[in-house]
Amino acid sequence: MSFIETRGNDGVKPQEVEFSDAILNPSSSFGGLYVPKVIPKLGEEFLTKHLHTSYKELAFDILKAFEIDIDDTTINEALALYDNFDDSSNPSPVVKIKDDLFVNEQYHGPTRAFKDMALQPFGYILSSLAKKRGEEYLILAATSGDTGPAALNTFKNKEGIKVVCLYPHGGTSDVQKLQMITEDGENLKVIGINGNFDDAQNALKNLLASQSFKNELKKDGISLSAANSVNFGRIIFQIVYHFQSYLELLRQDEIKLGEKIYINVPSGNFGNVLGAYYAQKMGLPVEKLLVSSNENNILTQWLTLGIYDIRGKVLKLTKSPAMDILKSSNIERVIYDICGAVRTKELMEDLNTKGHFEHTKEELEVLQKYFSATYSDDAYGLETIKTFVDEGYLMDPHTATCIKAYEELRENKNLKTVIYSTAEWTKFSPTVLNALNEDNNKYSDREALEAISKKLNLKIPAQIEELFSSPIIHDSVINIKDLEKKIIVFLK
Ligand SMILES: *Cc1c(COP(=O)(O)O)cnc(C)c1O
Repeated sequence: MSFIETRGNDGVKPQEVEFSDAILNPSSSFGGLYVPKVIPKLGEEFLTKHLHTSYKELAFDILKAFEIDIDDTTINEALALYDNFDDSSNPSPVVKIKDDLFVNEQYHGPTRAFKDMALQPFGYILSSLAKKRGEEYLILAATSGDTGPAALNTFKNKEGIKVVCLYPHGGTSDVQKLQMITEDGENLKVIGINGNFDDAQNALKNLLASQSFKNELKKDGISLSAANSVNFGRIIFQIVYHFQSYLELLRQDEIKLGEKIYINVPSGNFGNVLGAYYAQKMGLPVEKLLVSSNENNILTQWLTLGIYDIRGKVLKLTKSPAMDILKSSNIERVIYDICGAVRTKELMEDLNTKGHFEHTKEELEVLQKYFSATYSDDAYGLETIKTFVDEGYLMDPHTATCIKAYEELRENKNLKTVIYSTAEWTKFSPTVLNALNEDNNKYSDREALEAISKKLNLKIPAQIEELFSSPIIHDSVINIKDLEKKIIVFLK
């Protein structure tokens, strides 16, 4: 199947590309994104067939439905990376926490956050393509916490790929930082930046625009790729687990085939819930997609008012930092699907030049056929964590944002809801301990991990425990002005 561009074609890039080209070179005309030309339809027979298959078989068939130009052996080798999860046959288990409320736990992979669900197999596919073509790619990532560790983990020692990962020094949790700076692999470089996440991200943007940097890369025969969720290679794996949620409810006798469910996703860059949108379009019986945000509630504004307005807005640093966002990349793929390329280009240019765009009434009506949205603040999140722990379920602050949507947005209370748990408690343990103790104390990650583990009689997983005794590989913290030089030295 071919992939086309959300903002139309500039006459220079090819009109259509195959999956492999869309993921190796994800930048498309006019700054747009690649999307599948056709969204395949999978009906009830598909669900029936997969009632008794494994997660890998389900994923294989969904990938094949997109007719991607990746051979079966490579796909299977990529899917074998789910063997690194706690339960390889069921990498994202679905757990019941109330009569009508279920949690899809997406954090059972090597870095204990949902990014592994897609980045593990995606990393394998990207590197095997690079290797096969005899090409060398550089992935530049700026991270506030979860993407960095997951990208480093999947690409370490992979041929054809080099990764440079920037993090704001002092701006991540201890666990997140250790996950990055202890990751070895000759092809990895992790650099702390004196500044905040925005500074790191801006430094990266400036680098991508720097002619001297591009010339250096060219000299060394290196091309740029991307591992964030603008890359469709991540999105395709993020469709699978929404089917898995539905199949699990069927297997657990909680729903009948064809019965609709609510899918409720803590959202930032909109990649996770975009996977659910595609799943619904492919035929998964979904009543509504509930989009949960924190106080950076730009997605709530977009889906309730049809306005996206970042003028005068400053990013708030919240207790659910992976959802702290103003410009959410993947809404563009939904807008394309609903409004077409001409209109998408117009709206995205409005956002870039004027800082806002506005949908027509008709466009908003279509959006609201699929999505409902709301947000909650940190106090609500902490209270929610405490309430659920008292009832026997521990969740992280990102997952907790879903509860507000569960309580307020469901119009049909007879239907079941699946919320998505995007991080394990171990990644945000100081916040979780504040919730349990109902205090405001500043705990270190180490202290909080041990206190929670003792209090709730939970084991700290080995992947987290061993971070504290692993050797530190990447100790450089630099000023932004030295970044380009530093990277070029690493690439030599
Ligand atoms: C990345 C992330 C999110 C947001 O996911 P998007 O696909 O960007 O919407 C939510 N929670 C956690 C813990 C994450 O790491």
